[in-house]
Amino acid sequence: MRMRKKKWAEPYLQEHQDYALVSGEPYRGKWKSLLHTDVLHVEIGMGKGDYLNQMASMYPDEGWVGIEKDRSAAAVAARKVFESEHPDLSNKRMIVGDAAEILAWFAPGEVDVIHLNFSDPWPKKYTHKRRLSSQAFLERYDILLSRGGSIRMKTDNTGLFEDSVLYFLENGFTFTEFSADYRRNPHPEDAVTEYEQRFMDLGQPIYQLRAVRSREKKE
Ligand code: SAH
Repeated sequence: MRMRKKKWAEPYLQEHQDYALVSGEPYRGKWKSLLHTDVLHVEIGMGKGDYLNQMASMYPDEGWVGIEKDRSAAAVAARKVFESEHPDLSNKRMIVGDAAEILAWFAPGEVDVIHLNFSDPWPKKYTHKRRLSSQAFLERYDILLSRGGSIRMKTDNTGLFEDSVLYFLENGFTFTEFSADYRRNPHPEDAVTEYEQRFMDLGQPIYQLRAVRSREKKE
């Protein structure tokens, strides 16, 4: 969903390019040393960044990179970081851009977990290829994932979830977590996103899965 354009967004992003990167390219293959970690998470479509910020503080030894193409949302996300009392950039960054370019930003095998939270559902058939879980994206993720790496997905959208299950299976993934009502049980290990909170407040179920390669690729 697109946010209303914010006038302050562009200058704000310009001023905070040390956090809100215009590209991931300079760090391709070097993210783990930049973020002082052995475990790299990438969240695609981070929105206003609540999930990334919370997870980065819950797991300070792991590295967190968020990707967001909506420049107004990205600016809000950056502002949340810099307006917090103790801005902590040690284990997180964001890339302001379109995830279609992800192969230019991360090296093969560099990413341990890819997070897709409440991705745009693109319900019309001719738009399905834009889905972040569609085949073209899964092929890119497959290149980027480390041995034992995984893709985590949460959504409220039944159509997107059902279709995504098929995309994963058709592309050689299998599931190690799968829930049609993820928040029925407590999951304190996993932060709640902005969208997720809205759907939980409405009493709607959250679908969740974790996908891994069904057969490890040879290295
Ligand atoms: N993850 C957040 C926001 C969900 S809305 C939450 O759960 O609250 C989906 C977000 O994905 C939007 O902010 C949209 O701009 C972003 N997005 C969609 N396609 C994208 C792409 N190809 N690259 C980067 N961001 C994308």
